[in-house]
Formats: sequence, structure tokens, C-alpha cells
Amino acid sequence: MGADGVSSPNIKRVPSTKPPFTLGQVKKAIPPHCFERSLLRSFSYVVYDLLISSLLGYIATTSFHLLPSHFAYVAWPIYWILQGCVLTGLWVIAHECGHHAFSDHQWIDDTVGLLLHSALFVPYFSWKYSHRRHHSNIGCLDRDEVFVPKLKSQIPWHYMYLNNPPGRALGLAVKLLLGWPLYLSFNASGRPYDRFACHYDPYSPIYSDRERLHIYISDLGIFATAFVLCRIAITQGLAFVISIYGVPFVIC
Ligand SMILES: [Zn+2]
Repeated sequence: MGADGVSSPNIKRVPSTKPPFTLGQVKKAIPPHCFERSLLRSFSYVVYDLLISSLLGYIATTSFHLLPSHFAYVAWPIYWILQGCVLTGLWVIAHECGHHAFSDHQWIDDTVGLLLHSALFVPYFSWKYSHRRHHSNIGCLDRDEVFVPKLKSQIPWHYMYLNNPPGRALGLAVKLLLGWPLYLSFNASGRPYDRFACHYDPYSPIYSDRERLHIYISDLGIFATAFVLCRIAITQGLAFVISIYGVPFVIC
């Protein structure tokens, strides 16, 4: 449809002129208190989420084995969904840390973000840097970091067989289950780089030289979480780790 509501051959899909306001003006229109970062309030969210998460874990580990088996089949999925949602809350807090929105102190934001994201297998600094550039280039075909739309000429031939409800359901399932690790590991759906780009590689073209040390630290966080989970799996069994952490992690 054209601007006058009539179909026109020259469809303007996106606004092609600059808006009659600047980003600065939009920011000025938001009340200043919205930009205040309260350390106490931010930490209250972390403590609250950690308490709920621990409580859920405590209930699952101490009482589910007492339930008749058919109740356990219901109790575990309920636990997985609730715990997955709470972990997502913690994931988002770490995301805010990456945007320096948690407190006025960069080191506190980075410490909290590193601990929370590492516990959820996110390389904190690695993603913080690429994600920041994603925000400043959203929707840009050339410079956005992720979710870069393909040009019509680049769409693989088999996509036409997936352009139907079952195909889209399959695409969504793959994206939701594997999209995140594939992006972090192989830059899937990311912007093109002149060589292989991986969030775990300190020498990845995604990063500048002064960012590389932080990529090592992010990797250490991932190793630490993997180490702790391995230790728990050795003492408590793999099924324990999968049911307490693994499934909620996938939901998150
Ligand atoms: Zn963000």
C-alpha cells in the first residue's frame, strides 16, 4: 500500500526519509529518573531470582523422590518450566550488566554479569562486545552483528520447501534449540567476516586487540561452570545434573 492507502507499484517498505526528530530528542523526552541506576534495587533482583531458583532446586531435590511416580512425571516438567523462567530472569540481568545498566560502577556490572552469564554458559564479555554493536546497528544489512537478513539472491534453494507451516515450525524449533550455540560458535546468522568468526576465540575477527584479554576471561568462566557441573555429575550422577540444571538451561 502507498501512503495514501492505495496499492502502488513502488512499494516503500521502510521509511526512506529521516524522522523529524533526533535520537537525542527522544532521550531528552524520557524523564531523567529512568536513567538512574540503583545498586540496591538491581541487587535485589539478583538476590530475589537466586532465592527463587535455589528454593525450586531445594524442593525438587528433597521432595520429588517422595512423590508417587505418576506425580513425579508432572512435578518435574513444572519444575523445569519454572526454573527455566527464573534462569531467563538471571540471564536478562546479566544482559543488562553488559549494557552497563545494572549500577554506576562498571566493575560491579562486569563482575555480576560475568558470574551470572558464565553460570548459564554465555561468554560474558565476548557476547557483550558483539551484542553492543548489534544494538547500534540493528536492521543494518551491512553492519548488524546478528539476525542479518539474507538478500533474495543469497537464499538457498531448499528454503522454498520450508516456506510452509511445518517448515516454519521446524525452522523455529532449530532456531530456538540450536540458534544460540550455533551463533556463538560459528557466527550462524551473523554478519559476514573475512574469516571464521567464533565468540570463544580471543583472536576472532569480531574483537579488537584491546578486547581479547576479556575473551580469555569469558572462556575461563565457561570452563569453570563446566568443571563444577562435571564434579556434580561425578558425585550425583549425570541424570541429576540434567534434571536439575540441563533441562531448565535449555528452556532458558
Ligand atoms: Zn541488549
